[in-house]
Amino acid sequence: VSPSPAVRLYAKELYGKELAASIRADAAASAAALASLGAPPRLAIVTATADESSAWYVRSLTKAAGQTGIECTVADLGSSASAEVITGTLGRLSRDPAVHGIILQTPLPEGTRLAELAGAIDPAKDVDGANPLSLGRLVAGLPAFAPATAAAVVELLEHHQVTIRGVRVVVVGRSAVVGKPVAHLLLNRDATVTVCHSRTPDLASVTREAHILVVAAGRAGLIGAGHIAPGAIVVDVGTNATPDGGLTGDVAADAGTVAGAITPVPGGVGPVTTAVLLRQVTQAAGAD
Ligand code: NAP
Repeated sequence: VSPSPAVRLYAKELYGKELAASIRADAAASAAALASLGAPPRLAIVTATADESSAWYVRSLTKAAGQTGIECTVADLGSSASAEVITGTLGRLSRDPAVHGIILQTPLPEGTRLAELAGAIDPAKDVDGANPLSLGRLVAGLPAFAPATAAAVVELLEHHQVTIRGVRVVVVGRSAVVGKPVAHLLLNRDATVTVCHSRTPDLASVTREAHILVVAAGRAGLIGAGHIAPGAIVVDVGTNATPDGGLTGDVAADAGTVAGAITPVPGGVGPVTTAVLLRQVTQAAGAD
């Protein structure tokens, strides 16, 4: 990577709120059109956890869905629900013609795995791309719902007119929810993509090759100025709770002295993720 000749004094912030508002407005228009035909979009959220931050997320998603004109039902199966009960519920919702989108909330009961349980979600209703079939189709370049966070990363880059084709991308994190799908979405857009994880030796030497660095590790402050090429675009997907009840990303503050642009946490990928999820519900319900 040749350093950008005009290194900024401090990185530009790539905000997500404006983009999120416009995606949500489109989703609301689609939802209203579907409702006028007598078939309002409906999202079903299945939870099996007592986790407080998960409960907070479900409440905020339910509220956002309501504001968009999407009806939302929550099936709370309790934190001791068995794999059979969870897959049975997902199967029933998959067969219910009044339900268009299904989300299986994490964390899940001990001993169960998202990828196995989510196989019971009809791919046509898999609005958060949790069924492994959805990831497989995405890898194959076939139409599928991507995990909303991964799709939000791409939308945010495109919204801020960041060139993806032909550029060197490094993704830190290889989960099926963020790292892997985001790598494939960017590969499908002709980026040259490298994926790093906790066993990658000398992480900084790899991340410093990135024109676009996507960080989804869930480790506050993992990426600092020494990990970033001058002028690079940094997308911080990480959300880590701070002791004062706030939220911080995976990218340390000093990164701003080297990067060309950084997505803030909060206010970057997060709001776009919710908006993309709502739009995917209206798409699953038949909107364009
Ligand atoms: P995850 O399943 O825990 O995966 C984390 C990935 O990061 C793993 O692949 C792990 O490597 C890698 N990693 C961990 N420590 C590392 C290190 N020191 N160096 C290099 N790689 C390291 O997490 P996730 O579900 O993908 O989520 C990642 C982050 O995104 C979390 O902070 C989560 O809260 C956030 N998130 C945000 C949104 C949003 O809307 N903004 C949505 C979803 C997730 P191994 O595979 O080797 O373990």
